[in-house]
Amino acid sequence: MTFLYDADAERGAEWAALFAERAPEIAFHYCADAVDSRSVKYLGVWHPPTDISAKYPNLEVLFSLGAGGDQFDFDALPAGLPVVRMIEPGISDAMAEYVTLAVLALHRDLLAYRVQQAGGDWQPLRFRPPGALRIGVLGTGVLAKTSLSALQPFGFQLNAWSRSRQSIGGVECFAGKAEMDKFLSQSDILVCLLPLTSKTAGILNGALFAKLPPGAAIVNCGRGGHLVQADLLVALDSGRLSGAVLDVTDPEPLPADHPLRLHERVLLTPHVASMTQPETAVEVVIDNIRRHQAGQPLIGLVDRHRGYGGKTSRKKRRRTAVPLRTGPRLP
Ligand code: NAP
Repeated sequence: MTFLYDADAERGAEWAALFAERAPEIAFHYCADAVDSRSVKYLGVWHPPTDISAKYPNLEVLFSLGAGGDQFDFDALPAGLPVVRMIEPGISDAMAEYVTLAVLALHRDLLAYRVQQAGGDWQPLRFRPPGALRIGVLGTGVLAKTSLSALQPFGFQLNAWSRSRQSIGGVECFAGKAEMDKFLSQSDILVCLLPLTSKTAGILNGALFAKLPPGAAIVNCGRGGHLVQADLLVALDSGRLSGAVLDVTDPEPLPADHPLRLHERVLLTPHVASMTQPETAVEVVIDNIRRHQAGQPLIGLVDRHRGYGGKTSRKKRRRTAVPLRTGPRLP
């Protein structure tokens, strides 16, 4: 039973040590050239090889090393091949940290103070009490729920929107197109945690910005393809939006002279909102391999039709619902 980790060697070595300790019965490899590709039953990748069927004729499960499924062209993958995305506490806890950081930075005017500092100014700005600020999260999936849970102790008014109706304690939930405008009208800070699909590409556009309260701000932690960059620039320059925190862009990185890189009301980070953490990810992958061996349902199985999704287990749902954590993380 062979698992091939076909990605960066540095993390591969970390994964190898964890597999050896926790699942010695699984033959783990992280150097594709050193393994008989016909023996590979389980493959972990960021991007699958184009000739996957020819290269790995006995592949039984394809594991994404990240939380998204948008990098997979499902039409190019063997029809019956299960694709599992990464649902692990390291990713969701880190996303909760980042969303909290971004919301607090916008709430407490850090973008304006960055400008003040550069210009030698010293001007206190009034801020609203958190109870008067409405945070709207696009998506109610694994990462959205953990992030909402992290925001709860601050006392913000929390709203969330998704395709299907959800019920989340302390959060007003909206569903579908019919309820989107109401949701947007009460989102002073809008956080995007949607997967990138044909239905969500370009969702952060001028028409949507016009439905937000004047002076609202956005945080994009989904994918760069969710945002229409030209519309954001217009909205920022006209004052319709007051700021944006962007962890993801299209392309990554943006060209050095791109106006979003230079904009004083934009905070850019290089796609680091969350990262797969070997310690916790390996546990989840081993669990899934054992489930597969036992003929049990896989955790995080991507719905090929929707291009995202995949349930987390009850046990993992509880573990990922931790509001905030401090302490060092692996890069
Ligand atoms: P998830 O559990 O699959 O949840 C997706 C959510 O989006 C669900 O609530 C789903 O609603 C909603 N949704 C999808 N399409 C929709 C549509 N057309 N209209 C309305 N709602 C829609 O995903 P997740 O694990 O939370 O991850 C979300 C995304 O975060 C990933 O796909 C990835 O792109 C991004 N991500 C970014 C980073 C980073 O570092 N920046 C790291 C990890 C992940 P329904 O269930 O009702 O359909």
